[in-house]
Amino acid sequence: MERLQKVLAQAGIASRRKCEELILAGKVEVNGETVTTLGTKADPNQDIIKVNGKPIKHEQKIYIVFNKPKGVITSASDPEGRKIVTDYLKGIKERVYPVGRLDYDTEGLLLLTNDGEFANLLTHPRHHVPKTYLATVEGIPHGSDLDKLKAGIQLEDGMTAPAEVEYKDIDTEKNEAVISITIHEGRNRQVRRMFDAIKHPVIRLKRVAFGDLLLHNLKRGLYRHLTKDEVQSLL
Ligand code: URA
Repeated sequence: MERLQKVLAQAGIASRRKCEELILAGKVEVNGETVTTLGTKADPNQDIIKVNGKPIKHEQKIYIVFNKPKGVITSASDPEGRKIVTDYLKGIKERVYPVGRLDYDTEGLLLLTNDGEFANLLTHPRHHVPKTYLATVEGIPHGSDLDKLKAGIQLEDGMTAPAEVEYKDIDTEKNEAVISITIHEGRNRQVRRMFDAIKHPVIRLKRVAFGDLLLHNLKRGLYRHLTKDEVQSLL
């Protein structure tokens, strides 16, 4: 038995908070009775639970790690007809959605799941999941530039939190450098904006780690299911 709002969130109805609102608004029935008390418990395997008169589906939870190529949109549809992440998940029957997002031009590790609660937890700003990127940037930043990124830098939406930053490669011929950066926030285009702020714009951006999970040798455009231990390690 679980709290009803948790059961609903796990079934992918909405976030737990939104599900609480649905319960309070009298939209949720358990075995034919409208339930408006938030503490109510229910068993998704036994009880018939309906939202707005429609039974909720009891879906197997799945967790996928995908190596997103650049030039792919992290959303369920694109009015401009560009490639979307789910174009690459033909083998997956469940309706999964991304945990956070990567820019159209960013490649690398993207988690997808049908577990709304898991997704909300990991993307909640309070959770501070570390995310590591390899950024190929124009020019060779000085150590003092990287120190600014490490300490936190002023962006138009405020100071960034401290980040871990290190050189990975320096190509003097091309006048480019590859920098590894780990951030603990997830603001829009954050890494690109951080490098813009030190005047070394990003040429290529790849996410290589999300929490303890590494992209490792997963090929571009392919995905795999997470193991139970990997799911646990993210929580
Ligand atoms: N930071 C960015 O600038 N872009 C991403 O896609 C992810 C983090």
